[in-house]
Amino acid sequence: MIRQFELLEQVKAYDPGADEDALNRAYVFAMKAHGVQKRASGDPYFSHPLEVAGILTKYKLDSASIVTALLHDTIEDTPATLEDIEHHFGKEVARLVNGVTKLTRIELQSDHATQAENFRKLVLAMSEDIRVLLVKLADRLHNMRTLHHIEEPEKRRRIATETMDIYAPLAERIGMQEMKNELEDLAFAEINPDVRDSILARLDFLRKQGGDLVARIITQLGATLAEAGIKAAVVGREKTPYSVWRKMWHQEVGFERLSDIMGFRVIVDSVEECYRTLGVVHSAYAVVPDRFKDYISTPKPNGYRSLHTGVFGPERQRIEMQIRTREMHEVAEHGVAAHWIYKQGAGRTDGRQYRWIRELLDILETAAGPEEFLEHTKLEMFRDQVFCFTPRGDLINLPRGATAVDFAYAVHSEVGDNCVGAKINGRMMPLRTQLGNGDQVEIITSKAQTPSPTWERFVVTGKARSRIRRFIRSKERDQYVQLGRAILDRAFREEGYEFSNKALEGVLKVFKMGDADDLCADVGAGHHTGRDVVEAVFPGTRKKKGKDEKVVPLASARTRKAKKKGKGAAIPIKGLIPGMAMHFAMCCYPLPGDRIVGIVTTGKGVTIHTIDCETLESQAETPERWLDVAWEMDSDSLDVHVARVYLTVLNEPGSLGNLSTVIAKNEGNISNLKITERSREFFDMVIDIEVRDVKHLTNIIAALRATPVINSVERARG
Ligand code: MN
Repeated sequence: MIRQFELLEQVKAYDPGADEDALNRAYVFAMKAHGVQKRASGDPYFSHPLEVAGILTKYKLDSASIVTALLHDTIEDTPATLEDIEHHFGKEVARLVNGVTKLTRIELQSDHATQAENFRKLVLAMSEDIRVLLVKLADRLHNMRTLHHIEEPEKRRRIATETMDIYAPLAERIGMQEMKNELEDLAFAEINPDVRDSILARLDFLRKQGGDLVARIITQLGATLAEAGIKAAVVGREKTPYSVWRKMWHQEVGFERLSDIMGFRVIVDSVEECYRTLGVVHSAYAVVPDRFKDYISTPKPNGYRSLHTGVFGPERQRIEMQIRTREMHEVAEHGVAAHWIYKQGAGRTDGRQYRWIRELLDILETAAGPEEFLEHTKLEMFRDQVFCFTPRGDLINLPRGATAVDFAYAVHSEVGDNCVGAKINGRMMPLRTQLGNGDQVEIITSKAQTPSPTWERFVVTGKARSRIRRFIRSKERDQYVQLGRAILDRAFREEGYEFSNKALEGVLKVFKMGDADDLCADVGAGHHTGRDVVEAVFPGTRKKKGKDEKVVPLASARTRKAKKKGKGAAIPIKGLIPGMAMHFAMCCYPLPGDRIVGIVTTGKGVTIHTIDCETLESQAETPERWLDVAWEMDSDSLDVHVARVYLTVLNEPGSLGNLSTVIAKNEGNISNLKITERSREFFDMVIDIEVRDVKHLTNIIAALRATPVINSVERARG
């Protein structure tokens, strides 16, 4: 607790003419009035007005303001009356104390719905005398500094939210940057402690990693300016956790390097030096476009003046700079309080003096105004979301309830498909673990892992769900194949035949199937009965047996049968249709060995697709265009064919070299390479490789999959 004489000394240090007598009497009056009242911390209540007065001495406010600070809670919380105050301290102090008391009452009845209206009252109340607001802000600042002593979480949260929504923007409006930063950060710590902690941890990490980077940049900047004959103080300043968070949220700032969250400030002696400094900096370093702002010739409404610019500065780091005079700096930190009033000796403002108050009132007169003004600092809006970080500090924003699997899919589809575990804040946790705000999540992947159907039960994001479902569908096919094979096996045995894939080969075209597995899957899915197939393989079988076999084929089975009508026999690609143009589809890039189909396109001849090419779906309604084709596999052709492959490669030095080495070693030749997406972690790319046939490609893909920097490899499927 500040002692009486200490407070006096602090005031007299900047205001030798301060009213010592009034300060002493106010100290004693407040101490007596609050008596044995206690704060939530257990401290005597009087420590609070005293601390508030102490905060205001930092802003060098006049005696009347300091006296008001000491007395600010006496009317509301003690038997003292406004008349008592006026009697002992005069009209000016009484008016100020009354103003602060009014604000306190507005605050006490504050609830969310009427916030905008309260804000209006606040502005009106403070427009009578700016010192009312200064005392109120100091009051709020001390309450925020001691917020953790309040036991009820609801109350803490309400106060923090109100601080974020009303008091921090007000402090900013009157240019009290320092005050605004501290208020915001204290509120942030209450509203979103986990995110704040994780940002602090990240800052700490970056500081360690950066070594003395900041010091080196300061030294070099200083040297550059000194060479040009400019006397300047260069300081580095770190953004507060809250402003880092907000910038990340708006994606204005990366969080990879210290320079992303560091700013530099150059303080010089005169306005002229500011512009000279700008010139020197701009000629010494490459300028970041669109970062230059001249708030000296056009000050902000709150009186803020500075030059802002961004350069690729010393150490090849992108840095942001503010250039200003000492006086501008004082105003920038302390705002209204800096050029104010105790110097001029006049406390009262009539509203004409403060353009910003008029502007605020104007805004408040228009319907959308208050909300608009309050909008940008609302954390409440984000309550249904959680913010997590990758180990590199990238922000991943997920709906509440999201799990480690959602996180993995949010990072990258392949990471999701291959995730086997998650380290949350450094500890291995189950994949179904729900994530909390600020969790740092590291996903462990294995190429052997595939999505599990059980994941579908706990994921909450659409992306994760659709990827998992897609995988399950392809898995289902495998099951249909097995089931179909079992059905066929029985159907064949019933007729005294032995079932084998080979036995189906002759009828694949009849069923329009690429291979025996496809046919088995179709049988497994119920599109054909086992007997349908037996009948096709051994015509006449059905006549012997089976009125009981009248299984009604499903609709898709009918269309399939319809398709095969009117179709010719298989034509090998070689000598396909004499005189007809043939080319390979640029969607699926068929290779010798692939199961293929030809699509007749008017005027374009025949396009060869792989049987599983996804574009074939669009041809389902025009079976007359389908041609059964096959490769001439007997010749050991030396022809090369182009295959297209999608890859996801870790974004790290040497990974692309690694990739091309693996392909070359396996006798493939990259004919084209395109990076389709580049994130901090991965490259997504498409490469075209010249290969002999599908076996050759399969070998290359296998080799790529075995390469650690390659996260996934997938052949184009149309
Ligand atoms: Mn108070």
